[in-house]
Amino acid sequence: MTKKRDFYEILEISKNASQDEIKKAYRKQALKYHPDRNPDDKKSEEKFKEAAEAYEVLSNEQKRQRYDQYGHAGVGGAGGYSGHGMSMDDIFSNFGDIFGDFFGGGGSSFSGFGGRQSGRRVSKGSNIRVKVKLTLNEIANGVEKKLKVNKYVPCKKCSGTGAAEGSAFSTCHTCRGTGQVTRITSTFIGQMQTASICPTCNGEGKSITNKCTVCYGEGIVKDDEVITINIPAGVANGMQLSVSGRGNAARRGGVNGDMILAIEEEKHDELFRDGNDLLYNLFITFPDATLGSNAEIPTLDGKVKIKIEQGTQSGKILRLRGKGLPEINSYGKGDLLVRVNVWIPKNISKDEKKLLEKLNESNNFQPNPEKSDKNFFEKMKDYFD
Ligand SMILES: [Zn+2]
Ligand SMILES: [Zn+2]
Repeated sequence: MTKKRDFYEILEISKNASQDEIKKAYRKQALKYHPDRNPDDKKSEEKFKEAAEAYEVLSNEQKRQRYDQYGHAGVGGAGGYSGHGMSMDDIFSNFGDIFGDFFGGGGSSFSGFGGRQSGRRVSKGSNIRVKVKLTLNEIANGVEKKLKVNKYVPCKKCSGTGAAEGSAFSTCHTCRGTGQVTRITSTFIGQMQTASICPTCNGEGKSITNKCTVCYGEGIVKDDEVITINIPAGVANGMQLSVSGRGNAARRGGVNGDMILAIEEEKHDELFRDGNDLLYNLFITFPDATLGSNAEIPTLDGKVKIKIEQGTQSGKILRLRGKGLPEINSYGKGDLLVRVNVWIPKNISKDEKKLLEKLNESNNFQPNPEKSDKNFFEKMKDYFD
């Protein structure tokens, strides 16, 4: 991808443009580069998306502030707006209110680029969003999930056509079957001829003489469907996976929408996640730390025994290589970091007290940290906040 252009530059406005100016500037760009006016023109398509992205950020005061402060880095990333992979339908649904003025009726879906034949539009079903809760174990290994979703599916009675059994379609009288009507509109940039979707047949060019009684001519009905999804290892909380063609069916035989999976991570009882690394807080006794011992560490594939060296300081971090989470779409793996905490008893008996007082007299018990001990605490701050 080429370097991103400045959003203000894209919309040709000043840094302190008002919301009204932003909106106007966006309309201007959107009209100029709209795919209906520039069919099969990749450059215009890019410019159109660019303008949409700029508008998406600048029209939102919070996002605009972040953009002003941090540039593109402040508004990109996970969960943010990313220009690539975005379909025209998304743009239209996001900006339906704006296009409503020009293209008649917001919220309807349009065909993508090049998908147009003799002006008739291919309808696309809407996307469905599904939350998927995953445990760390499932994330570590990847998992197959069966998801039951209630969505629009083609009507069985009429095979998704919307027409009652045996009944035929007739050519739309408004558009004579082309699916489009042309009209002249006055806009703030002058008179404009727009080809818009025929309101009578909704762009299909035909109408049903006898509607199916199950779906009332829509060709789709709501039903439960069980969808099996393979989720790759290494996903993270807040990630979105798009499964093409598993969304809602379109009215009367169009293209299915997509299913968007929103990943939610369930908290593990003992392990914390930090990127691909896992963190574990180990508590050991003061004698074990002094004399050395063994400890059991929970990992995502069972318990692991580790050796506690004699004279281990509280705060020491032990690294179990490759016991973390896999990186998504890669062979890399994180580590499991174990922080050793020496447990200080809160209640002790009289005898124990005497014993400790005696030990405290010995020089060996006076703190004398080495340089490397101090480094542990620096590292510790990064991991366990
Ligand atoms: Zn039907
Ligand atoms: Zn029509």
